[in-house]
Amino acid sequence: AAPLEVDSAALAARRFNVLGKGLELSYEQPVHLVYGQGVHLYAPDGTDYLDAYNNVPSVGHGNARVAEAISRQMRRLCANTRYLHENVVEYAERLTATLPDGLAHVLFVNSGSEANDAAYRIAKALTGKTGAIVMANAYHGITDVVAALSPYYGPFAQKQEDFIEVLESPDPFRGRFSGPEAGAAYARDVDRAIAALEARGHGVAMLLIDSAFVSNGIVDTPPGYFTAVAEKVRAAGGLVVGDEVQSGFGRMGETFWGFARHGVVPDMVTLGKPMANGHPTGALVTRPEILADFTRKIDFFSTFGGNPVSAAAALATLEVLQQEKLQQNARKTGEFLRNELAGLQVEFPLLADVRGAGLMVGVEIYEEGQPSQKLAKRIANGLRQARVLIGTEGPDGNVLKIRPPLPFATQDAARLVEALRGVLRGL
Ligand code: PMP
Repeated sequence: AAPLEVDSAALAARRFNVLGKGLELSYEQPVHLVYGQGVHLYAPDGTDYLDAYNNVPSVGHGNARVAEAISRQMRRLCANTRYLHENVVEYAERLTATLPDGLAHVLFVNSGSEANDAAYRIAKALTGKTGAIVMANAYHGITDVVAALSPYYGPFAQKQEDFIEVLESPDPFRGRFSGPEAGAAYARDVDRAIAALEARGHGVAMLLIDSAFVSNGIVDTPPGYFTAVAEKVRAAGGLVVGDEVQSGFGRMGETFWGFARHGVVPDMVTLGKPMANGHPTGALVTRPEILADFTRKIDFFSTFGGNPVSAAAALATLEVLQQEKLQQNARKTGEFLRNELAGLQVEFPLLADVRGAGLMVGVEIYEEGQPSQKLAKRIANGLRQARVLIGTEGPDGNVLKIRPPLPFATQDAARLVEALRGVLRGL
């Protein structure tokens, strides 16, 4: 199709007029997109970008099978979720088949935030307690309570709620502990958190953890950490919630689910982002007795959660993921990419640490021995000018976040590394 004639600066001005300036756009020079296909994104003038950032279109932008499934179902029926419909049943059967045996009942919602919000409600209802433990700098979403459960927003954005305790980030690169004892050493912080919640009369309802530790800077947590904290929380009567919004559905390469890399089976997992390749869909999966306890106490109903169109989108996405072996691709391309980046470290020591799993890759940027957000931002903006899209992450904003759609191939990774080399040489 002929490129659209659109003035991006004028569009940005119109956006500020109606959405305000507070909702940020990425990059110093914002990217205006009209079309996406696979791992490529296109501007109105036809300029193509390599997408090394977006995890939501996990089976690729504009995936025809997902688009057709949505369109077909939308023309046929999209109705109230209290009617019987095969799609949601079929999808729940296929989804739970990918999860450990106990995680067998699904509650459908529309976003990761809603799934995490439901997790806290379920945990409170079951345990009769109110305390929650989260990781330093964790991000879990936007509802009032989930925002409170997200230290990412920082101490100035909100007051620290009395029912929440925050754990020290288990970061072997930057943190206090490393070596074989690091997992157990970091896990000791949960003893303090449990004692504090009990002393304040809350007790522990749940521990909520993003098993990819994305907003911590995609840290490689020390072995044994997650199992140790999970054990302590359960011993205190709390439930373990795995936030799989980032780490689920094959991205981590080695395993289909992020928690599996840590050798933990959570009591609940929360899902979103890549679940339906961009169609807004979320879910919580838990053990039947846990969900039954909640639905006995609370009449839970989501108007859109699990509707026939969302279920069709999620089903098509899961089928493509499995048939095109995208988890295996994430593993292979991710390994190649980390190897290439490790090669670049020799020439550019400012790449202080290369880490991650599958297609969730973090690169720590240092300048004069200190984390440098400024330099990380310059690199991300430089790559954007070179038509490769990545982001920045972490408590200091100095970690390059590379998290492409899962069809990302080794030649795409090679293009990314070449572009990065160019940017680094030009600094
Ligand atoms: N959990 C994690 C780990 C996330 O990264 C996000 C989104 N960035 C959420 C939850 C919230 O998901 P949503 O934006 O769909 O509400």
